[in-house]
Amino acid sequence: MSDPDPDTIVGEFFALKRETDADFLVMQVGDFYEFFGEDAETVADLLDLKVSQKSAHGSDYPMAGVPVDKLTPHLKALVERGYRVAVADQRETADGHERAITRVVTPGTLLETSDADAQYLVAVARTDAGYGLAFADVTTGRFLVTAVGDGDADDAADRVFAELYRFDPVEILPGPSVRNDDAFLDRVRERTDATVSVHRAEAFAPGRATHLTTEQFGPEALDSLGLDGGRDDTPEVQAAGALLSYVEETGTGVASSMTRLRRYRGDDHVELDATTQRNLELTETMSGSTGGTSTQGGREGSLFATIDHTVTSPGKRLLAEWLKRPRQDRSTLRTRADGVAAFADAALAREGVRESLGDAYDLERLASKAASGSADARDLLRVRETLALVPTVADAIESDPTLSASPLADIAARPDREAAADLRERLDALVDDPPATITEGGLFRRGHDDDLDDLIDRHEAVEEWLDTLADREKRETGITHLRVDRNKTDGYYIQVGNSETDAVPDRYDRLKSLKNSERYTTDALDEREREILRLEERRGDLEYELFETLREAVAARADLLQSVGRALAELDALASLSVHAVENDWVRPELCESGGIDVEAGRHPVVERTTEFVPNDAHLGGDRRFLVVTGPNMSGKSTYMRQVALVVLLAQIGSFVPAAAAEIEPVDGIYTRVGALDELAQGRSTFMVEMQELSNILHSATEDSLVILDEVGRGTATYDGISIAWAATEYLHNEVRAKTLFATHYHELTTLADQLDRVQNVHVAVDGEPPSSDGAASGSADEGDGDVTFLRTVEDGPTDRSYGIHVAGLAGVPDPVVERSRDVLEKLRAEEAIETKGGGADATKQVVFDVGSGQLQTRDDGDDAPATEASDEDPAGDRLDEETRAVLDELSGVDLTGTSPVELMNRVQAWKERLDE
Ligand code: ADP
Ligand code: MG
Repeated sequence: MSDPDPDTIVGEFFALKRETDADFLVMQVGDFYEFFGEDAETVADLLDLKVSQKSAHGSDYPMAGVPVDKLTPHLKALVERGYRVAVADQRETADGHERAITRVVTPGTLLETSDADAQYLVAVARTDAGYGLAFADVTTGRFLVTAVGDGDADDAADRVFAELYRFDPVEILPGPSVRNDDAFLDRVRERTDATVSVHRAEAFAPGRATHLTTEQFGPEALDSLGLDGGRDDTPEVQAAGALLSYVEETGTGVASSMTRLRRYRGDDHVELDATTQRNLELTETMSGSTGGTSTQGGREGSLFATIDHTVTSPGKRLLAEWLKRPRQDRSTLRTRADGVAAFADAALAREGVRESLGDAYDLERLASKAASGSADARDLLRVRETLALVPTVADAIESDPTLSASPLADIAARPDREAAADLRERLDALVDDPPATITEGGLFRRGHDDDLDDLIDRHEAVEEWLDTLADREKRETGITHLRVDRNKTDGYYIQVGNSETDAVPDRYDRLKSLKNSERYTTDALDEREREILRLEERRGDLEYELFETLREAVAARADLLQSVGRALAELDALASLSVHAVENDWVRPELCESGGIDVEAGRHPVVERTTEFVPNDAHLGGDRRFLVVTGPNMSGKSTYMRQVALVVLLAQIGSFVPAAAAEIEPVDGIYTRVGALDELAQGRSTFMVEMQELSNILHSATEDSLVILDEVGRGTATYDGISIAWAATEYLHNEVRAKTLFATHYHELTTLADQLDRVQNVHVAVDGEPPSSDGAASGSADEGDGDVTFLRTVEDGPTDRSYGIHVAGLAGVPDPVVERSRDVLEKLRAEEAIETKGGGADATKQVVFDVGSGQLQTRDDGDDAPATEASDEDPAGDRLDEETRAVLDELSGVDLTGTSPVELMNRVQAWKERLDE
């Protein structure tokens, strides 16, 4: 269909549509906003609108529209589905009207959100120096940058994704070199729910980016952050500049609320890779993630949902941020814990503070609304009411001896109280109950503006005249059924009942006849009517003008609103932590320097809420750096390990912890590989994912990290699995030296405790019969969505039993570990002795894996390894139980060439599980 004549409405639409790369265009046509053509059909489908036909020059075009005042919710609905929508407004001009695109609403620039969550837009730039990330939340004016530098490329990309996962952005702007990186973009699409938007490459150019960033935040901001923007290799500045220009070009108009450029460094924070954030179920549970490309799980049952008792949206956002960004810095952590402790000790005062906070509105969001010009009088009233809480809250804290001696007093004292009082006083100009519209007056109290007062006086005088007119006319004319009223068509009129129309004087002009009465006007009434209309219009205009001035004054104090908002949010978050600690008997953790983790009678913070929890201790450090955790299925191994990780994490957000006592040396990272996640929906096999995650841990963890490995190696054949687990254990113990908890069903690995200095065994003791299956922990594979590249690589060797090790290599597990796994595997197969690496000089012990008994035998313990009549390929028939035989039968019946590798893997896994039981 060729475009219609641009002089028609439809033609104008298509012409504007060509100007934008947004997914949809919506154009104002009088009292409606309309979509045309394909846009109309798609949008109508998405939003359940009615499609009609609009003719233009003989052709019919689909059209779907919404009334002007219904645009916002519809825009919001589209944008929340990930679309970008250009809005063309209609403006009156001297000769008719014109239409132009005034803004592009995108997921990251949507101001009309009703959600309490942060809404981050992120730009990712890349130079030779590494990645630069800039994050902005236009709804609150928060603006942060960070660099994810050097290291090898994969490693840096992993860290970029850890940040992206943490901020959970709704929209991503990849820089020029990032947008050509298919692997990166694929990962964005698979791992995040963000919309990818392509912003002009020039916006990322160092010169332009530096200029914009400097203009926005001032030259000192860049200097003080050590960001020399002029250099070509400052990717943070490139990202920041691109982000600023994007926000500006979408026409959101919130630039003035972005008052502060904050830079954060990875080294203040605890590394929490994306997998760990998910595994530990910090803000979403894993069970909620069912298929699709969504990474969203359910919120209920997450750590956040469990510990959140905040009473404000900003407090909620801040607590979630803390949880996703634990810290290492002891002084920050002590200050927060001091605050929590003070609130815990002063319950009554705390509840007073929380009650006041409950009346607070979201100042950060209101500042952005003021800056964008979308705040109405009720919004400004909310600013006033919230600012009024500053002294109330501060007094509540200062008047309690415990609270006033704590860091809480500093937080309450941080906002500029005088400035807050000044702004609040200015806002006293508003009436207490302003109307929803800001163009029709009625917003201001008397005494705010002389001209306005004068208008109001005159307005009231005329109103008074009109109010008393009926009485005067009755007196003068002697008519009893007479009233004065106003409507849209007739304006003001005098209405007289039919029985008395004879008494109407000459000066009455008849307007119209009704069934039982007649309507009249008079010259004097006409004159007053004109006057009152004039006054109303002038009053509306003047009040609107005054309101804009007031709104600008509020926008100009965005920094103040943000600092007050932030202080109130901190108090809310700390009070929330305190409430949870008190209700659940948590204790303040000691942040020690001993390099250890010592938890007495620890509990899992989420499980303890729903279960009669059996507390248990955890001691890691010194010669107990590596704990091999064994125990039957369902005995609580996974729960125990997560519990340790969560106790450490809680300590490192400044919270109390679920334990009788805890001493913790802060860690620099928490890494987990827990359970077998079903990530098939993301197109990767479970075992490949398991190995990639192991690889990430082996590369990233340090001596100061906490590593949790749950059943690593489980996704492959027994020998492979043991070999990989064995080699990984040696590597973590000898090279990485991280504090590690390793749960395994390979009982063989407990032998390592004898061999390696710092490896200890612990086991979960259970009473009674353990439940028979551990179905939850095993990923059930599904064919069809497998990683094709990876499968092709192994196609030629379905009989190669080192398949698992091969995958480990592909997944990037460090070479020494892969080689060592092969080595261990060969020895296991050949039933040769394996000498543990890193066992120290006195470790002359050797072990042999005995297939017959399924045990590793230590050579020097005098127990002759039984000569094995069985090999792993041909186990002796008479020692096999029924189940094993059934599995073997199925195995020999497999059509190797006719079965897909993924399906083969699934079957092997299923057999393995049956054999394990
Ligand atoms: P494993 O990893 O050993 O198979 P899980 O950690 O998955 O076992 O725990 C099995 C079940 O036992 C879970 O439902 C968990 O909630 C419960 N559980 C685990 N540890 C405890 C505990 N210390 N007290 C009470 N219930 C527990
Ligand atoms: Mg488990």
